[in-house]
Amino acid sequence: MNIPMLDLKAEYALLKDEIEPAVCAALAACQYIGGPNVKAFEAEAAAYAGVKHGISCASGTDALLIALRAIGLGPGDEVITTPFTFVATASTVVMCGAKPVFVDIDPRTFNLDLEQVAAAITPRTKAIVPVHLFGQPVHLAPLKALCEKHGLKLIEDAAQSFGADYAGRKSGAYGDIGCTSFYPSKNLSAFGDGGLIITDDDALAAELRVLASHGSRVRYHHHVLGYNSRLDEIQAVILRAKLKRLDGFNNRRIAIADSYNRQLAGVVETPYADGHGRHVYHQYTILSDRRDAIQKALTDAGVSCAVYYPVPLHRQEMFATTHGDVTLPVTERTAQRCLSLPISPMLQDAQIERVCEVIKQAVA
Ligand SMILES: *Cc1c(COP(=O)(O)O)cnc(C)c1O
Repeated sequence: MNIPMLDLKAEYALLKDEIEPAVCAALAACQYIGGPNVKAFEAEAAAYAGVKHGISCASGTDALLIALRAIGLGPGDEVITTPFTFVATASTVVMCGAKPVFVDIDPRTFNLDLEQVAAAITPRTKAIVPVHLFGQPVHLAPLKALCEKHGLKLIEDAAQSFGADYAGRKSGAYGDIGCTSFYPSKNLSAFGDGGLIITDDDALAAELRVLASHGSRVRYHHHVLGYNSRLDEIQAVILRAKLKRLDGFNNRRIAIADSYNRQLAGVVETPYADGHGRHVYHQYTILSDRRDAIQKALTDAGVSCAVYYPVPLHRQEMFATTHGDVTLPVTERTAQRCLSLPISPMLQDAQIERVCEVIKQAVA
C-alpha cells in the first residue's frame, strides 16, 4: 500500500460536493477580485482567530513581507528568528533590506531557544519572528515580555499552526501581527496559493491593507511602495468551506500523532509537546540516529516521508556571505536526525500501523 505524506485526493473526495457548486457559483458571479467571498472569508477567519482584522493576500510569503514592511523594517534593522524553518521566514526580512539574526533552537520542540533570543538583542533589533514549527505553539509569553522591554514587535509566523491555541488565543493572535499561509500542504489550505495577516491593531491593519494594495489609500494615489497581493475569489470560496472543518481536521491530526507516539515509543524519538499550547501537528517529526536507514526503508515500502529541513537557513547558499561564520549546533544536529512521517486528517489507522511496522523493522 502506497501512503502519501498528505492525502489531498481523499480530502477532495470528502469536500467535492460542497466545494464544486460554490466554486461554480463564484465563477458565474464574475466578481473575481475583491469579491464577496474574499470579504466573507476575511471576516470569518478573523472571527475564528479572535482578532479584529484579517487581511488576505497572495501567499504566506507575502503575508510576512507585508507585515515586516508595515512595522517599518528597513536597512540597518535586525530581526531575530529561527534557522530551522522554511526560507520565507527569513528571505522576507532580506527583501526589506534588513538582516535576519538566527539563533539556535530548543532540541526538543525545534522552536526558538528563548534564552538565545534574549542574548541576541542589539540596539538594531526591530522585531522577533517566532515560527510555530510543525504546528507547535512557541511559548510566547516570555518573548512578548522581551519585546515590551526592548520596544520590539512580535510577528508570528503561523504558516504551520493555523488553529493551534496558546494562552487562550489562536495561533497568530498573540503577537502584534500573525501571518499564515494557505499553500496546499498547510493545515488550512487552498487549491493554490493564498495567505492571511491578522492583527488587533487598527493602525497596523490599515497600513497592511495599503501595502497589499499597491501602497494606495485612495485609488490611483500611491503613498508608499506597495504590492499587488490578493487572495482570489475562487480560493476564498474553498477556504470558507475548509475553515469550518479546520478544528475537526486538526483534532484528527492530534489523534494520529497520539497513535504514532504510542506505537513508536522506544523505537525512535517521538515529537515532544511542551504543553504550552495545543500542537496541531502540521508535521509529525521524529528524530533518530538511523534517520537515513528509516527514510530508505519507508521509501522502498512505498511510504512517503520527508526531511524538513535538510539545510538550516544559516547554511543556505543565499546566506553564505552574510551568515557564513554562524554555527548553530542544535539546529545542525536536528537537520541530520529529523524525519517527518505521513500525516493528514485522512490517514487511516491501518496506514499508521503500516508506517510504524516499517520503521520498527528498519531499526531492528
Ligand atoms: C509555508 C510557509 C511559509 C510561506 O508560505 P507560502 O504560502 O508558501 O508563501 C512561510 N513560513 C513557514 C514557516 C511556512 O511553512
